[in-house]
Amino acid sequence: MTSLQTYEPKSKDVIGDFEMRTEANHRRQMRGELAEEISRIDNEMFKDASRVCPKCGGAMYAHGHSNPTSYFASCGEVRIRLHRLRCTACKHIEVPGYTLIPDDGISAGLGEKMCDLASKMPYAKANDSLSIQHGIHISTKRYWKFVQKEAAVVGDIIAQEACALYEDGVEPDTVNLAGDKPLIIGIDGGHIRGWKTNPSFEVKCATIATGSEKVSGKRRKLTDRIGYAAECSVEDFRKRVSTLAIKSGYLTASERIFVSDGAYWISKMIADWFPDAIHVLDMYHLKHKVQGLFGLTAAGEDAVLRDEALSACDCYEPSLIIELIASWQPRDAGKATAQDELVMYIGNNADAIRNHRLVFIHGSGWIEKGVDLMISRRLKNRGMSWTTNGCSHMLPFAVLRYNRQWGVYWNKRKGLQLDAAS
Ligand SMILES: [Zn+2]
Repeated sequence: MTSLQTYEPKSKDVIGDFEMRTEANHRRQMRGELAEEISRIDNEMFKDASRVCPKCGGAMYAHGHSNPTSYFASCGEVRIRLHRLRCTACKHIEVPGYTLIPDDGISAGLGEKMCDLASKMPYAKANDSLSIQHGIHISTKRYWKFVQKEAAVVGDIIAQEACALYEDGVEPDTVNLAGDKPLIIGIDGGHIRGWKTNPSFEVKCATIATGSEKVSGKRRKLTDRIGYAAECSVEDFRKRVSTLAIKSGYLTASERIFVSDGAYWISKMIADWFPDAIHVLDMYHLKHKVQGLFGLTAAGEDAVLRDEALSACDCYEPSLIIELIASWQPRDAGKATAQDELVMYIGNNADAIRNHRLVFIHGSGWIEKGVDLMISRRLKNRGMSWTTNGCSHMLPFAVLRYNRQWGVYWNKRKGLQLDAAS
């Protein structure tokens, strides 16, 4: 082959050229209007600014304009020069309109688009999309720095509230469930692959639901969900979970139910710190383990035993499940270890299996879904690896989105009037 493949589209948009030109014109016009608006406000700020030097009290006079500053907005880059004042005595220079341009030179409107893309796909791809969708070209490093800074601005309200509660005794606002609604708390963890030589680590996740509504027959669907995810120690996490739980009405709930996959740290956390709660094991997880032990292709006696064990799961009979699994004689010697481990796992979680008889909510799909939305989709894609720092820049956005607070946050960030935005 002597040349690269070239593509000749079969159909060409007759007015495509018009569309492109018009769009470019609109963007150019918007950049002009934006620059004018900034100049207008800068003029006002310049007129209103004090003529007394803040350093020495001397007199300040107009001193031309600043060097051009770059401001990126949804319409592209605008370059702006701002009025300057200079002290005749100490030569101090003030730029009254300085606060008009954010430190990173990126508008909140564009910032929302950037964070939206970066919280859904890798930075390089997000930057590529930004250039295709909005015609904006910035370096990936600048992009990354902006998102990192914004993540810190979004912050972790639950972590702050937990600090206030545990260190200063400041109680958060709470929902009153008046003793007639249960509070269900799902706890799970997602393993994230460490970047390069960094070890892998776990992001912990909590989803809390209060109240439920009938779907059909005996099935109920949980409503009013709130989620949280963080990369932190078990100690910090249990403080944050209890803060979130208290906020959601833990103290006034008719019942307090924890659902987990039986991971040791979760069971221990619930037993030690939430003794008045009922801990139930995620049965989907257990059944998945049972099926995995016997294998997908189990046949004959093995299949019979497997189905009996699964039925015992449905009856929440831990000793019967253990008896059935322990009685199995796997042909594959390698299975013996997995068999012992599963027996031990069921033994450790026997109470959490039996506890299902006390509660009416058994499904756990909503917890998996929470982990998927808050952790897996952005952090666990094929080939991805993270530093704990990089991961911590993604979680605030995922949590905002899960809790349907994205628009609330960004509308405030863009300075929109709340009643106009709602
Ligand atoms: Zn001065």
